[in-house]
Amino acid sequence: MERTLSIVKPDGVSKNLIGEVIKRFEQNGLRVVALKMVKLSKTQAEGFYAVHKDKPFFQSLTDFMSSGPCVVMVLEGKDAISKVREIMGATDPKKAETGTIRRDFAQNIERNIVHGSDSKESASFEISYFFNALEIHERREE
Ligand code: UDP
Ligand code: MG
Repeated sequence: MERTLSIVKPDGVSKNLIGEVIKRFEQNGLRVVALKMVKLSKTQAEGFYAVHKDKPFFQSLTDFMSSGPCVVMVLEGKDAISKVREIMGATDPKKAETGTIRRDFAQNIERNIVHGSDSKESASFEISYFFNALEIHERREE
């Protein structure tokens, strides 16, 4: 069993896609074990995306991520990290596979609806960025 962090980004929330994103995760066997809506400050967005601080898109990305509420969640399941990345599709929606969230809904490479951790190390950092142990729940398998 593995855990990963996903975010419905501000564009996904404005487009009313919270349920659509969660539905796709659930239909692929992932279980939500933590969930909340947050509005990040610019500084909080910069902290979350600190690995990208030297990238040319960092300012614009952190402006976007702090522009409105996000829905953040912890998902659990077998190979959760790679499974979520597969369901999301490539960063650039033009390169994303048919049937992925980004291919179906993203506007461009920045405003791409959804985030998913890319490794065990980033999942661990990102989960603890948003949730403490009491906010993450055991789930019984059906
Ligand atoms: N991003 C961007 N321009 C780029 C690459 C990425 O605006 O050229 C944004 C986009 O919102 C992306 C986020 O920065 O989701 C983090 O980039 P990363 O390369 O980690 O992509 P991801 O892991 O989200 O697919
Ligand atoms: Mg990434």
